[in-house]
Amino acid sequence: MNDVLYVNGRFTTTAERILGVEDRGFQFGDAVYEVFKFLGKRPIFLLDHFQRMQNGLQEIEIPVPWDETSFQTMVRELLGRTSFADGIVYVQVTRGEAERAHFWPEGIAPTAIAYTRTFKFPDAAKKERGIRVITADDRRWHGCNVKSVNLLANALAKKRAQRANADEAILLAEHFVREGASSNFFAVKNGRVITHPLDEHILPGVVRDRVIGLALAAKIRVDERPLREAELFDLDEAFITSTTQGVMPIAEIDGRVIANSRRGEVTTGLQKAFDEMERSSPVS
Ligand code: PLP
Repeated sequence: MNDVLYVNGRFTTTAERILGVEDRGFQFGDAVYEVFKFLGKRPIFLLDHFQRMQNGLQEIEIPVPWDETSFQTMVRELLGRTSFADGIVYVQVTRGEAERAHFWPEGIAPTAIAYTRTFKFPDAAKKERGIRVITADDRRWHGCNVKSVNLLANALAKKRAQRANADEAILLAEHFVREGASSNFFAVKNGRVITHPLDEHILPGVVRDRVIGLALAAKIRVDERPLREAELFDLDEAFITSTTQGVMPIAEIDGRVIANSRRGEVTTGLQKAFDEMERSSPVS
């Protein structure tokens, strides 16, 4: 299917080949991306995603090709041209194209693209049943707060999970739990929610942030601290969060059942509150 594609200020479709072979996104993974959801053509938490992209680009010294307003305008036009009402938008900004060398020349223009895709969001049965996860070594770099396109370690961990008949890999380093290969990780123990603090080892998830806010609003204590690997198998509940999965219960970790494999009370409450927030979020 050829979907609508924005590229450097014009609209085309994903059928058009648009990248030069010396684009630094292609050769060096020198790029930042974003994924956000739209429902009924309404982009969800758009400005949170814009803000994170802007932070990431500034951190790696790529000029930000939009301001908030021009980004909103581009997204509105992209969604206006899209033939379906619900899906995801993939945005990527690379440092641009230049003769291949590790040093980049000053002043090159970034490559900015965005396109829409349909997406099979989890249905009610899956949201209740939850997912199986495996644990895997975190082989990523120390810049995971930047949503860079360097996803090789994530992709390898995710493929291992798929081969083990699981949906996600939870990444561990030095016997601590960091996050999922494409999600943030949350544990629940004695009524408290535990998740890794924001630092260079995890992505500042848009859903993570919203869910922490919902937990605090519900007077649930949130401990932002790294969970020890040994604690993983003594949890009351566990779940992951991400733009495409929302709040997704974990039923099994490395084949060991969590919370009798039933969606726990805290997870259920946060999942419902988050779904409601997504449904009622204003157009940003
Ligand atoms: N952590 C990683 C490594 C991710 O790739 C993602 C999403 O793709 C997340 C966390 C969740 O982030 P968000 O809630 O913004 O989708």
